[in-house]
Amino acid sequence: MKPAVSVQNIFKLYEMDGETVHALNGVTLEVPQGDFVSVMGSSGSGKSTLLNLLGCLDRPTSGDIYFGDDDITQLSDNQLSEIRATRVGFIFQSYNLIPQLTVLENIEVPLFYAGGVNTKMRKRSMELAAMVGLADRIKHRPTQLSGGQQQRVAIARSLVNDPYFLLADEPTGNLDSATTEEILELLTNLNKQGKTIIMVTHEPDVGNRTKRIVRLRDGKVASDRELEKMELSNV
Ligand code: ADP
Ligand code: MG
Repeated sequence: MKPAVSVQNIFKLYEMDGETVHALNGVTLEVPQGDFVSVMGSSGSGKSTLLNLLGCLDRPTSGDIYFGDDDITQLSDNQLSEIRATRVGFIFQSYNLIPQLTVLENIEVPLFYAGGVNTKMRKRSMELAAMVGLADRIKHRPTQLSGGQQQRVAIARSLVNDPYFLLADEPTGNLDSATTEEILELLTNLNKQGKTIIMVTHEPDVGNRTKRIVRLRDGKVASDRELEKMELSNV
């Protein structure tokens, strides 16, 4: 089976005050469908840059990124926006909900970029609200919710287009340990249902709950460890 995401020798260089910053320095990474990957590494190692490239928010300076058979680095800006809107689900550390909108309306935001909400989509949004445990909160506004509940809304929103994969940048970074556990359970269940997830995290406890830890250092892959296989080989 084709990997869900294949990153081939990507570089991302930024020019800053006449100096070149090598944010990514030749990263190659294959993520099979159904994988649950943690991207770890110290601050400045290139984690967010990698996630932004996978999320079609930016383009690499060189190298290729495939979603299945499609090389997304060859797409026009419009095509890239289309892919971003329909095939990628985003979860952020700070939730990024729109304060003026209700829970249900926040869940449906990606549908507006993709063309609007019909009855079938509305039903799905309600199902997603229920799936993340917020069926009785759909008319609340984000400020009326706890951090964990807000992140649940963000997770439901990330799924509303049935994306090809989920990208999460420190999704538990603002949450206490009990709420972190709830969010990890939700992500683990989604992964068990087949969703491919790539998640940046600083926290070893969070990384250890995924299937694989890719560690970046100075814009390169310093190590790539499959946790399940290690456990099996220890048996
Ligand atoms: P991380 O998420 O691992 O902390 P980043 O991917 O944000 O790291 O950054 C990697 C490197 O690229 C850092 O040295 C950072 O300062 C630099 N960098 C990131 N974004 C930009 C930008 N837009 N312009 C210039 N330098 C940047
Ligand atoms: Mg970062």
